[in-house]
Amino acid sequence: MKPFRRTIRTARHEAAHAVIAEAVGYRVSRVWLLAEDAGFTEHRHPILPDPLKRAMIAMAGHAAEMRWHRAKKTHVPAGDHRTVLAMGFRGRSLPTILMLARGAVEENAEAIDAVARELVKSDLTGRDVRRIMRGTAP
Ligand SMILES: [Zn+2]
Repeated sequence: MKPFRRTIRTARHEAAHAVIAEAVGYRVSRVWLLAEDAGFTEHRHPILPDPLKRAMIAMAGHAAEMRWHRAKKTHVPAGDHRTVLAMGFRGRSLPTILMLARGAVEENAEAIDAVARELVKSDLTGRDVRRIMRGTAP
């Protein structure tokens, strides 16, 4: 694969998906950066999938970009937007889900930033994510 610049913005976006997934009870197995502006977080739901939690996890990356990088509210990345719609939500529910995601990101800001600072250096396992989160727990 072509080398790319690992940016703190993309790292915070993916770190937010990962930390919010763990925070709502999903289990992260891996989080990595794919390109300067793209990454991926692999996670699975606990016993039962929960569409609202899954949608919040999907919106958390954008919420983090709004918090730290002044991303415009309406510029939700296409893939994350599709995930929310795939959960059965309508476009008009997006602002509500984004509001919930922004609240969760604010509550977990320290952990997200800590995970992002590690992720910008190298890809992480779910175990890494949980270790870093424990390190920032109050
Ligand atoms: Zn995303």
